[in-house]
Amino acid sequence: MVRDEQKTESKLTAGVLDDAERSLTPEQYAVTQEKATEQPFENKYWDNKTSGKYRCVVCGAPLFSSEEKFDSGTGWPSFTAPASGSAVLLTEDRTLVAERTEALCSRCGAHLGHVFDDGPRERGGKRYCINSASLDFVPQNAQERAAGGSVSVVIDTRTAPATGAVQAQTPLEIATFAAWCFWGVEEEFRKLEGVVNATVGYSGGQIENPSYKQVCGGTTGHAEAVRVEYDPHRVSYDDLLAAFWAMHDPTERNRQGPDIGSQYRSIIFYHTSEQERAARASKEALGRAGKYGGKPIVTEIIPAAPFYRAEEYHQQYFEKRDNSAFD
Ligand SMILES: [Zn+2]
Repeated sequence: MVRDEQKTESKLTAGVLDDAERSLTPEQYAVTQEKATEQPFENKYWDNKTSGKYRCVVCGAPLFSSEEKFDSGTGWPSFTAPASGSAVLLTEDRTLVAERTEALCSRCGAHLGHVFDDGPRERGGKRYCINSASLDFVPQNAQERAAGGSVSVVIDTRTAPATGAVQAQTPLEIATFAAWCFWGVEEEFRKLEGVVNATVGYSGGQIENPSYKQVCGGTTGHAEAVRVEYDPHRVSYDDLLAAFWAMHDPTERNRQGPDIGSQYRSIIFYHTSEQERAARASKEALGRAGKYGGKPIVTEIIPAAPFYRAEEYHQQYFEKRDNSAFD
């Protein structure tokens, strides 16, 4: 996460981010956004032995389970493995003389801590040394209550956990947009709180499984598109639309700045009739507001078409480029 860059982005985008940032304590902010390390033994969870799940304090993604927690004697919460193979992203950290492996939330990029090779051998040998300030603990009994799975469990809203566990049950929704070069569009959507995943690909064209080269050739009809998976309890489709309008000039036909070609046309691919209605209403409202000096908005609003995931090197392009681990 690059805070300064976000601050200069559109007000709409920044507004959503500010909300997320405001809810972090100064210590949570320093750890997750500025890679600070909290004091050992003087943190919330180093000695927590209750069963439950540890979630990312920034985005709520499930990161660790009490089942993998062990007493390392270091004074920081220590785990032998993350909750799932994809929950935690590892990168090389060269800020100290000795190279270390940094652990990040793979959903939002929050700094969590570091990984070392001195964990219990019989459990794989890894030690995920994590800052309590990057975690939000949801006890097992609270998870069960929120899930409401068993027969006569009544959810008591006064004692149910404030966030986290309830959100884990929310099915994700999908939205697809094309605005300009998909690298930037993906990055903009990933910045929004509540966006769980964003994938770059090709949509709206005539052939199956097009390559980047074919799409850039301009003959397949595909647009560079981004498929957004989002949690509707944390970000609304209207919020996504607002970010979409703010991140490009929807009066430009087949170009954005220096990028020219039909693959850069502006499209909202709707997946439901509610999305279609919302998209048309927001386009109309934007036109009425006269923001573009009378120039018509050329954004197409069309039904979602097959989406072909782009080649791996296009995924999270800016994040990879900005990350020294990929130099
Ligand atoms: Zn996160």
